[in-house]
Amino acid sequence: MHKLQMVDLKRQYERIKPEVDAAIQEVIDSTAFIGGKNVQEFGNELAAYLGVKHVIPCANGTDALQIALMSLGLQPGDEVITTSFTFIATVEVIAFLKLKPVFVDVDADTFTMNVEGLKKAITPNTKAIVPVHLYGQSADMEPIMHIANEHNIPVIEDNAQAIGGNYTYSNGKTVKTGSIGLIGCTSFFPSKNLGCYGDGGAIFTNDDDVATKLRMIANHGQSKRYYHDMVGCNSRLDNIQAAVLRIKLPKLDEYCAARRAAADHYDNAFANHTNIVTPHRPEYCYHVFHQYTLQLKNVDRNKVQEMLAEREVPSMIYYPVPCHKQKMLEEYNVADTYLPVTEMLQECVISLPIHTELTQEELNYITTNFIEVVDQLSK
Ligand SMILES: *Cc1c(COP(=O)(O)O)cnc(C)c1O
Repeated sequence: MHKLQMVDLKRQYERIKPEVDAAIQEVIDSTAFIGGKNVQEFGNELAAYLGVKHVIPCANGTDALQIALMSLGLQPGDEVITTSFTFIATVEVIAFLKLKPVFVDVDADTFTMNVEGLKKAITPNTKAIVPVHLYGQSADMEPIMHIANEHNIPVIEDNAQAIGGNYTYSNGKTVKTGSIGLIGCTSFFPSKNLGCYGDGGAIFTNDDDVATKLRMIANHGQSKRYYHDMVGCNSRLDNIQAAVLRIKLPKLDEYCAARRAAADHYDNAFANHTNIVTPHRPEYCYHVFHQYTLQLKNVDRNKVQEMLAEREVPSMIYYPVPCHKQKMLEEYNVADTYLPVTEMLQECVISLPIHTELTQEELNYITTNFIEVVDQLSK
């Protein structure tokens, strides 16, 4: 058996090596490293896949979120509502732009934005809402969009962990996550569901004016060459990364299906275990399992991790400190925000290896050992 890893990019690469190597070589031969046909074509192909009008490739997922927020023309101190149970980038860009992060709790079963909490958090100063599709699972976008539209507040979806996922409205209409709010953002960090071989990101929108603005901001606020209308930044997806992404995008659905099959295996193995809560799969979404995250009940999580490590089963805690407790946000005085579910989850979540290459043998090894360790520690 291979040495187990949280994500196995090597085996995935080996299956597409000839195509990838040729595509990268072609870019090098062309010496079109920045810009170039792959960036343009990948943008078009991703737009078609997502069913959105515009895709603006950029340098990484953090930039995507930052550029999206910059395009709204907000003032320092304007409030942006998001969740604290997320990767820091979601919140960091809010603070970086001198906006005020306002945290709402998540639902214990979905790890995503609690709709009642969102309603209560809205004030006249709320200028954006950033739901996060955590672990590959869509936030409940229909009620979120309903509330946002009622108050005329733009929604930016943090889709970094859920590209390939779907959301289904109560009328049965199904759309891709990231295509629902005014702007969607994603990351192509290598371990993401659609990862490149370095850094990359993209921003999506159906709004022509917003798209123009996003493009300008990502390119030094430039309207035409050397004419700069606003302060922007320099955020580009390079041609080599776009070449890799063009090979992987047609396989994204297959990659998501492989992750879901691994999740099914785990779900079956852990079903009805008194100390293990398996991830809930709400009807409204097609979960693409960027992470497979369990909740441990009445067992010492540190000990579980230690014993798993002894058996060479990797595990991770996403994330050990929720954003509102991070030192980074000290000046905002948000550490005492009442987020009981976030704080409960932070104490009990644990993620197991999930990727596109897990074999039955590996899955069996992980589940058998996980159950043995949990059983031993819960006695
Ligand atoms: C990965 C990630 C980001 C940031 O993406 P980078 O490409 O690493 O900058 C933002 N939000 C979430 C939820 C993420 O998981």
